[in-house]
Amino acid sequence: MHLLGLAAWLLFVLAFIPAVRSRLGARLLGGIAQQHRIHHWLGLSAGFVVLIHVVFELVSEPDSAFAFDDPYLTSGWIALFVLLIGLGFSFTKSLAHRKWVLIHWSLLIALLAAFLHGQAYLHQENLDRLVFYAAVLIATVSIALIFGLRLFEQKWIIVDIRERSPALYEIGLKATGKAGRGFKAGSIVFAQFGRGFSRAWHPFSIASCENNPVMRLLIKSVGTDTSHLLDLRQGSLLSILGPFAEFGVSPEEDQVWIAGGVGIAPFLGMTRCLDFRNSGAIRLVHYQAVEEPDLAREFAAFQLRHSQFLWKTRVTQQADFSEVREWTKERSGFKFLVCGPPAFMRSARKFLIRAGTPSSNIHTEEFSPW
Ligand SMILES: Cc1cc2nc3c(=O)[nH]c(=O)nc-3n(C[C@H](O)[C@H](O)[C@H](O)COP(=O)(O)OP(=O)(O)OC[C@H]3O[C@@H](n4cnc5c(N)ncnc54)[C@H](O)[C@@H]3O)c2cc1C
Repeated sequence: MHLLGLAAWLLFVLAFIPAVRSRLGARLLGGIAQQHRIHHWLGLSAGFVVLIHVVFELVSEPDSAFAFDDPYLTSGWIALFVLLIGLGFSFTKSLAHRKWVLIHWSLLIALLAAFLHGQAYLHQENLDRLVFYAAVLIATVSIALIFGLRLFEQKWIIVDIRERSPALYEIGLKATGKAGRGFKAGSIVFAQFGRGFSRAWHPFSIASCENNPVMRLLIKSVGTDTSHLLDLRQGSLLSILGPFAEFGVSPEEDQVWIAGGVGIAPFLGMTRCLDFRNSGAIRLVHYQAVEEPDLAREFAAFQLRHSQFLWKTRVTQQADFSEVREWTKERSGFKFLVCGPPAFMRSARKFLIRAGTPSSNIHTEEFSPW
C-alpha cells in the first residue's frame, strides 16, 4: 500500500525537525532534552513504518521486490539498510560516541536514497504529491538549519580555569559580542574548545547565575577533549552555541533538586542565583562516586546564608534516593528536578514515580549523548 511508504517518508523527514538546534525550538518543545526525545521517537516510528512498508511490498509483490537493476528500487533498499543501522546503533548505544556521531550523519544518505525511491514510486494523486513535496521542503529547510545555525556561534573569552578537584574543572567565560552577560543558570550551551582540541561541539549546563557577568561551566574530565582542559589558556577564545532552555520551573516554586555526579552543574548555577533573587524552599541532594570537598564548601556556605536552602551530599556508587523520600511525603507541591547520567536518571525517575510523584512534577536534564 503506497500510503505506508508515504507515511514512512513523512515520519523520517519529521525526525529532522527536532534535530535542528534552535533556541526557539528548544523553548517550544520544552527543553533540549525533550527535543531530543521527540527526535528519537520520530526516528523510531519511521523505522517501524518503513519495516511494515517493506514487509507489505515483499508479500504483495515478491517477484519484483529484489529487482536490483531498477536503481530506484535499489535506493529504497539502501535507505532501509542505512536507516536500520543508524537506529540500531542509537538505541542499543553499543558504539563509542564519536563513531556513533559519524553513523548518525550517514542518515542523510538514507534520506537522499529514500527521496529517490519515493519520487520514482510516487502515486500521481494530488494529495500524495502534496504530502511528498511538502516533506521534501521540510527536509531541505531542516538540513539547511542544522548546518546554518552553527554559523551563529559566539566567541567567549576565557577569564579563568579552576581545578576544583583532579577530574573537575570550572571555566569562567566573558562574552565578546552583544550577548554581554552570562546565560540563564541550568540552560545548555554547546562549546567548541578551539585549537589543540577536536572540532566536536560539547553540551554543557550553565553553572552560574545569569546576573553574574562571568558565565561558568563545570566540566568533568571524561574523554578526548575534556581530559586536557588545562591546555586552555586565560584569554583564549571558546566558541559557544546557545543557550538552549531547560528546566522551565519558576524559582518561586518549592523544589527538590537531585543530582548525579557532574549533573550538579545546573544546580550549582541555580544555587548561585540565591544571592540575587527570592526563591521557594530548595532541597538539594547530590549523589557522587567520589567526594568533592571544594564544591561541598561552596554549598555549605550557601546553606548558611539562605535558610530556604537545604543541601545534602552522599558518596555512593548506587543512589537509593532514601534522602529524597522524606520530601516526596512532606507535601505534594514540590517540583523535582533531576540531572545526571542516563542510568542515574532512569533510577531517579523510577524512584519518584514509585513514591507517588506525578510525572508532571518531574523535570529532567539528561547528560545522554544519544
Ligand atoms: C544536555 C547535556 C548537558 C551536559 N552538561 C555537562 C556539564 O555541565 N558538565 C560536564 O562535565 N558534562 C556535561 N555533559 C556531558 C559532556 O557533554 C560530555 O562529557 C563531553 O561532551 C565529553 O567530551 P569528550 O571529548 O571529553 O568525550 P569523548 O571522548 O567524546 O567521550 C567520552 C565519554 O563522554 C561521553 N560523551 C561524549 N560526548 C557526549 C555528549 N555530547 N553528551 C553526553 N556525553 C557525551 C561519551 O559517551 C563517552 O562515554 C552534558 C551532556 C548533555 C547531553
